[in-house]
Amino acid sequence: MIAYCGLYCGDCPIFGSGMAGLAKELLVKLEESHLERWGPGLSELTDEFKAFANYRQGLDFLNALDLLRCERTCRQGGGGGDCRIRACCREKGFEGCWLCAEMESCEKLDWLTPVNRGAHLKNLTVIREQGKEEFLEGEKAW
Ligand code: SF4
Ligand code: SF4
Repeated sequence: MIAYCGLYCGDCPIFGSGMAGLAKELLVKLEESHLERWGPGLSELTDEFKAFANYRQGLDFLNALDLLRCERTCRQGGGGGDCRIRACCREKGFEGCWLCAEMESCEKLDWLTPVNRGAHLKNLTVIREQGKEEFLEGEKAW
């Protein structure tokens, strides 16, 4: 469950959460109900329904959520299929970035920061300093 980048797949809100499947189901229901025809008009009825004016943005959000699928752990090939971090570790023969001397300065790890706010670096530091067993028993940053 420990990914090459230090993220813990077992705590990942995307892995196995079912959010994408629920978004797809809702998209199908909305289409069957033809809500695009009459939904936006609801916004003019009462203040409580004002958000129906944003129907198109709601659909865009659901379509994006439908793409947020991850049904395998990182080590099983889940996550980003073309992940540079996974490819780099495999190429170098590392079980994970915690074994790499470039861990603190690696720009390949940077793209994760906007989403997890550095959780991968916190995890990597714990794994490097305390070992995998300790990490697995303790609280993970993600
Ligand atoms: S696919 Fe890449 S970014 Fe995702 S968990 Fe695995 S190593 Fe980390
Ligand atoms: S250079 Fe090192 S820290 Fe960066 S992705 Fe490759 S193995 Fe991980």
